[in-house]
Amino acid sequence: MEASEPLSGTCHCGSVAFEVSRPAFMVACNCSICRRYAALWVHAPPASARIVEGEGQTDTYIWGDEQIEFHSCKSCRAVTHWTGVDGARWAVNMRMVDPADLEGLPVRHFDGADSWEFLD
Ligand SMILES: [Zn+2]
Repeated sequence: MEASEPLSGTCHCGSVAFEVSRPAFMVACNCSICRRYAALWVHAPPASARIVEGEGQTDTYIWGDEQIEFHSCKSCRAVTHWTGVDGARWAVNMRMVDPADLEGLPVRHFDGADSWEFLD
């Protein structure tokens, strides 16, 4: 795969799909919700991402300070992305991407449970 090509992700049933520019790294967060979802996030910005299929096909879950909504497919329940309620920030879950496409992409560990700093 060309480094400049966007990566494609879909939920398990294929109802929800996104594209994201190849990021410098992915983020594993240890906060109470992210560790349960076991998500690997890429944030936009700095990446650019778009939902290409299934806008409106998700259920949302808002937690804590109600600043972000987690989206899961209404059919297969895979957690595909989150959106900031202010509309400025969002992130896609790279667990939806073929692992072969993620080879060599580093994972940074973010301490969302406590310090809100990267642990590396
Ligand atoms: Zn689905």
